[in-house]
This record gives sequence, C-alpha cells and structure tokens, in this order.
Amino acid sequence: MSGDIVKSLRITSHASIFTAELVALNLALDIIRRSRLIKFVIFSGSLSGLVAIRNCQLETAYVQKFIINYCQLVSAGNSITLIWIPGHTGIRGNERGNERADEAAKAALTSTVSTMKCLASDFIPELTMLYREVWQAEIAEWDGCSANKLHSVKPHLGYCSVTHLSHRDAAILRRLRIGHTRVTHKYLLSGHSQPLCDECQCSLTVKHILLECCSLKDVREKYFTCSSLKELFENVDATTIMDFIKEVNFYHLV
Ligand SMILES: [Zn+2]
Repeated sequence: MSGDIVKSLRITSHASIFTAELVALNLALDIIRRSRLIKFVIFSGSLSGLVAIRNCQLETAYVQKFIINYCQLVSAGNSITLIWIPGHTGIRGNERGNERADEAAKAALTSTVSTMKCLASDFIPELTMLYREVWQAEIAEWDGCSANKLHSVKPHLGYCSVTHLSHRDAAILRRLRIGHTRVTHKYLLSGHSQPLCDECQCSLTVKHILLECCSLKDVREKYFTCSSLKELFENVDATTIMDFIKEVNFYHLV
C-alpha cells in the first residue's frame, strides 16, 4: 500500500511465504510505476526477500523480475530505497497500515487466484507429505513389513531429527535404528557364522545389546528402562543411548 493506494493479489496456496513476500515487493514496484512522484521508500517486513534481492539471487524468478523492474524505474529517474522493518510495532502510522493490509487480505480471499508461477521449491513440503502418505499407505509393503528391523522402530514414516548429534554419532544412531552394525552383520560378508553374545550364547543383535542382554542390565538401568526398540528410540534421548553403548564398549563396534 502507498497512501490511499492498496494493491492486493490472491496467490496460489502452494506458494511459500518467501514467494508471497517477493510478489508483494513486485506489487510495490507496480505502484511506483503508476505514480507521478519520483522518490520512494519501500518498507518491507521480508528480510529474506530483501536479502535475496541484495544478493541478486537471479535463479529466483521473482527476484529477477524485481531487479529488472527496479533498474528500469531507476533508469527512468526514480529514486527507490528498500528498508527492512523488523516487526510492525512501535512504528508511527503502522496501525493504519495494518488495518489496510487486513482489509486487502480479506478482499483478496474472494478474488480469483492469480495465474502466477511458483518456485519449484515451494512444492517440496506438500510433495514430501504426499509421498510420505503414499509410501505409508500404498506401500502396504511398509505397513506389512513387520519383519523389517526398522519397522519395529519406526512403524510410521517421517523425518527423524538427529541434528544435535555429531556426524559420527548420527551415523551410529542410524545403524542402531536399522539394526545393522559392523559387529552384528560383518559375518554376512566374511562367510563366518553369526556371532553370539559371550555371556548369553544367543545371537548377537542390536536389540540384544540395547534391551535384552542380562549381563548389561545394571549399566542399562542407569540410562533407561524400555521394553521395545520403538519405545527406546522414541522416548530416550539419542545422547543417552550413545552414553550407554560407550559404557558397554559397543560404540566402537557399531
Ligand atoms: Zn547377552
């Protein structure tokens, strides 16, 4: 908006906030193009949009469009300054601006969705959700994959965040989750027989170490008490699991 001029546009719901903010910045240039004035300041709350413009992020179509239009307007004798306003509080006249913005947003709800292009990356969150659902349901292979070691840990598909771990610990945690480690599975490559737990003489598996082996019971109970791998990986912090396998000397064998 500028003075009494308010421009609004209904964009597709597939668009990201980043795209929506860049579209708004381009609308501001439309207002400037139609104005008889020559000095302008565009106030925007979109830091990411302004940074993308300053960095000439030309692979983003709306940044490219903005820069082309901006250069044309400046070449025609206009002065245009871009200013970031972090939040809207404490700025004189802002309440009025907010009211006009709300009115424009409500008006846009009943208008036709504009035929605009979206960035391909805008579709990633939706596609991720869609494919997760398809994979979960249609791949009844996963719902019916109860024999898969990872299925018992993660019956419902989704992202597993291990960002607070080091790269090495994150890799070790993933091996524990799928139940495949060097010490429990190298026999498949070497042609030897499956290793046994020295104490229990049963098959040495990740589940045995983490939940079952009686010789590790006392140490284990210092860190967690779980009855299933799903419960362990869902409820116990990864660093606690790391501490346990370090104390029982399993860490360097994973
Ligand atoms: Zn054992």
